[in-house]
Amino acid sequence: MTTTIIGFPRIGQQRELKFATEKYWRKQLTQNELLQVAAQLRKNHWKVQQEAGLDLIPVGDFSFFDNLLDTANLLNIVPKRYKRLGLSPLAEYFAQARGYQQGEVAVKALPMKKWFNTNYHYIVPEFTTDTDIKLVGDKLFAELDEALKQGINAKAVVIGPYTLLKLSRFLEDTTAKNFVPALSAAYAEIIARLDQKKIDWLQIDEPALCLDVTATEKELFKELYTGILTPKHTTKVLLQTYFGDLRDVYQEALTLPFDGIGLDFLEGSYNAELVEKNGFPATKTLFAGVVNGKNVWRNHYVTTLKLLKELTQTIAAPIVINSSTSLLHVPYSAATEEQLPADVRQHLAFATEKLVELKELDALKHDKIGNQQFLEKNDALFANVKHPYNAAVHAQSDHLQPNDYERTPERKERQQLQKEEFKLPLLPTTTIGSFPQTRDVRQNRAKFRKGEITRAQYDKFNEEKIARIVKIQEEIGLDVLVHGEYERNDMVEYFGEKLDGFIFTKNGWVQSYGTRGVKPPIIWGDISRTAPITVAASVFAKNLTAKPVKGMLTGPVTIFNWSFPREDIAPKETVTQIALALQGEVFDLESNGIKIIQIDEPALRENLPLRKSNWNQEYLDWAVPAFRLVHSKVAPTTQIHTHMCYSEFGDIIDAIDQLDADVISFEASRADFTLIDQLAAADFQTEVGPGVYDIHSPRIPAEEEVEALIEQIIKKLPLDRIWINPDCGLKTRSEEESFASLRNIVEATRKVRSSV
Ligand code: GLN
Ligand code: ZN
Repeated sequence: MTTTIIGFPRIGQQRELKFATEKYWRKQLTQNELLQVAAQLRKNHWKVQQEAGLDLIPVGDFSFFDNLLDTANLLNIVPKRYKRLGLSPLAEYFAQARGYQQGEVAVKALPMKKWFNTNYHYIVPEFTTDTDIKLVGDKLFAELDEALKQGINAKAVVIGPYTLLKLSRFLEDTTAKNFVPALSAAYAEIIARLDQKKIDWLQIDEPALCLDVTATEKELFKELYTGILTPKHTTKVLLQTYFGDLRDVYQEALTLPFDGIGLDFLEGSYNAELVEKNGFPATKTLFAGVVNGKNVWRNHYVTTLKLLKELTQTIAAPIVINSSTSLLHVPYSAATEEQLPADVRQHLAFATEKLVELKELDALKHDKIGNQQFLEKNDALFANVKHPYNAAVHAQSDHLQPNDYERTPERKERQQLQKEEFKLPLLPTTTIGSFPQTRDVRQNRAKFRKGEITRAQYDKFNEEKIARIVKIQEEIGLDVLVHGEYERNDMVEYFGEKLDGFIFTKNGWVQSYGTRGVKPPIIWGDISRTAPITVAASVFAKNLTAKPVKGMLTGPVTIFNWSFPREDIAPKETVTQIALALQGEVFDLESNGIKIIQIDEPALRENLPLRKSNWNQEYLDWAVPAFRLVHSKVAPTTQIHTHMCYSEFGDIIDAIDQLDADVISFEASRADFTLIDQLAAADFQTEVGPGVYDIHSPRIPAEEEVEALIEQIIKKLPLDRIWINPDCGLKTRSEEESFASLRNIVEATRKVRSSV
């Protein structure tokens, strides 16, 4: 046994799982039909891995929505309010993920958060006093049976108890500690079940061990696993970590009776030093994460072999060549991206190509005769890569001065000037930008792409949409309007396509949450703006109404984080180029009379390194200035908004305030408003619009419900710095749902206004 991966993308090469699941939700597919699609996909994916020669194939990495939710359900961590609905297990599962509404009965979805420093989202499990942990689920075991029947050498995969506890919410005065014995027992029982099935390896994912681990948390980790590993078992247990290094618990991990330890040698570059300094027992297997699960470039074999060689020389333990993370974070295959020039495509390795890389690296590592060709061919790829170079962009970024990053006058003064400029009512209402991308909108775009309609026809359609949505917003009574973003497929791909320096895939989908995917652009050359991007649409909308229209851009950090970056240059260099391109767009919007400009940064939080000590130096020190560079030179009366969603922002409140935006809107409704308390405590200066409508759920919030939320918000934050808005763009919702919800929001706001 010599090669494996941590997990494989499950959505299917043609996103079959997405389409089948959504059909099931629309009741166009029965549960059985959906289950069949899923089984077929698993079968295909195992086969691809088997045929690539992977020795040990992950099973249990499949999910209908999210693996943490799977793990919680496996262990009976399902809040009562969902159980009470009396649904089938699958329907109950989706109710937790998406919320449930049937006549009078309505239950909100569980909160959703970003999975460490990725753009993947997990569902947050909830613990209460009546949480009764026991092994009730069958998913993992059923999938293993399925795989075994197909002759797959299966490695069982679950998310570990430490990560589960770290990412969950504890209500009713419960704490993680309360659940340790029950969790240990349940995981021990999982192992016992795997024993019976004669499964060789269990991979327990514990990325949370790469976060900062306090002394108390260290005890928690030890206690959990002492309980899990003590009962006699034959299935070997692999502690799999990724997204960072294991420095805080390396010794503990070595001391506990794990059979294998999985380390990420790419993002957790410090892991190599840990192994060298502290050794690695010959009795354990080292699963060495050396093929990048988070980026799309070919592995440079010379570099990887050097690392593997060093490891082999320092330790006597057997080494398994592994991906650095699950391949969930990269697209399925680069082979079908024929539209890309061959000299670019040859540099790409998506999930299926990475399987081949693992196998080739393994062959090379064993110095098998005849393998030299892999090495030579691979090295030639890296010998003279020609990334497009733009001298003007380099000149511009080389001449940046400190004051290019400073906006004047200071925010307090601007807030006064802007109040006079816009004369908005108390608690101004607005949306986050996009309105529903209905079928006709997507069809129009598809037709244009295929050349079935002209540019003029395409634009005319969108203009009619803009005119209609401006009118609807006026009717609803919103205060700051938007143009609706009908021209955008995706908030990053759209900008990437308009900027020089990106390349695009046809089918490079990566799961973002549930059935939602993104198609991240790939950064290939220097980045620059060749023409205005959003100006025409924003100005068109502005000319239709007396109300202010907010321009809408995606920020530099989000464009960078949601693209696949180059690995040969520093992030700071790329993000500065993107910021300069967007700065040009901001100036153009401003000089065309757009006085409110929103620069979305939903991804600001997600790329933070796992360890706090690395936050500033490795990330915020370039991310915050990049945002400031985009907007610092606008007039004091131009109001800069930003928007963020689906992250824990509590610990970067200061950094968010330092973006020096005038207004921020963000997700809050799913997270019970803890953030609002944190903002209040931190004396947050930016005006804020905490989302009062959870757009990721099909539920329409009642007017009274919104009113109650607003009442809560105004108790905690300064009244003249609060905005009222949904928690994210409406693009995935239906028009019916969106309009009804917005009406309720505006009505609720009016009621509160008249009462303060
Ligand atoms: N302006 C974008 C929209 O409304 C923001 C999307 C996001 O935050 N993900 O869709
Ligand atoms: Zn959002």
